[in-house]
Amino acid sequence: MRVDYHMHLEMGSLTLDYLEEFWHQAQVARLDEIGVSEHGHNFRQYKSIMGHIRDNAHAYPKIKSWFSGKFTHDLDDYVNLIQTGKDRGWSLKLGLEMDYIPGKEREIAEIIAAYPWDYVLGSVHFLGQWGFDFSPEVGWPDKDVNSAYEAYFSALIAATRSGLFDSITHPDLIKIFGHEPSIPLEPFYDAMVTALAEVDACVEINSAGLRKPVGVIYPHPDFLRRCLEANVPITLACDAHYPEDVGRDLDAAIHLARSVGYTHVATFANRRRTLQPLG
Ligand SMILES: [Zn+2]
Ligand SMILES: [Zn+2]
Repeated sequence: MRVDYHMHLEMGSLTLDYLEEFWHQAQVARLDEIGVSEHGHNFRQYKSIMGHIRDNAHAYPKIKSWFSGKFTHDLDDYVNLIQTGKDRGWSLKLGLEMDYIPGKEREIAEIIAAYPWDYVLGSVHFLGQWGFDFSPEVGWPDKDVNSAYEAYFSALIAATRSGLFDSITHPDLIKIFGHEPSIPLEPFYDAMVTALAEVDACVEINSAGLRKPVGVIYPHPDFLRRCLEANVPITLACDAHYPEDVGRDLDAAIHLARSVGYTHVATFANRRRTLQPLG
C-alpha cells in the first residue's frame, strides 16, 4: 500500500478546493491513501500549549513574528473540512501534527480527546524558546551542537514516553541544517527505541529531509534498524507544505524502509492501527 501520512494545508486555505489539490496530486503519485496532519499551532485551541513561547520576553524576534500568524484557525473547521473530503469518497485520514511541550501533556490530551482523529503525530520543533528548525542563523550560532542534540533527543524521548502520540515524526529533525555532533548518537537511538516499544508507538520515515540542507531522509538508517529489531512499526511521510509535494520522494522513503528490512507500513482509522504490505 502506498500512503503518505504527513501533509499541511497551512500555506493555502482550509477550503475544499485547496484540499482537492492535495487529493489530486495523491492520485498523480499513485497513492492509495493520504493523511492530512496540520500543525496544532495553526489553531486557536493550541494557544494554551505554545502561546507562552511567543509571549516570553526572551523569545527570538524571528520566532515571535512567525507566531503572529499562528493560533488563528479553528480545529472544528479543519476537522469538518477533512470529513467533507472523506464524504466525497477521497481516501483521506484525519491527522494532526502536535508539538510536544513538556508540562502541557494535559492540554495536549484534551485536544486529542475532543476530535475523531484517525491518528496523531508527535513532534519536537522547539527546545524551550528555540525553534531549532527555523534557520541556521536563529539560535544555532550561540549553541553548542552536542548540547543541542542532547536536548533534542531528551525532549523526543519525553514526547514518546508521554504515550500521547501514534507516531513520532521526523525523529532526528535536529540534523536539518547538517550540524554534526561529536558525541555518539547510538545511546539516544537506543533510549528512543525503548520508549517507542514501551508505549507501542510508530516511528515515521519522512522524505522531507531530502529537500533540506542535510539532504537525507529522517531518520538515520542505524536508528531505523534498531526500531525494526524492537518491532516498532513505521508510518510514511513526505511532509508536503504544497500540493505538488504530496508523495514526493516517497519511493526513496520506501526504499530506505525496505533496505533495513521493513515489509509493512502502519495505517490508521479512529486511532486503530493496521499494518499493510509496503507498496
Ligand atoms: Zn514537523
Ligand atoms: Zn510536518
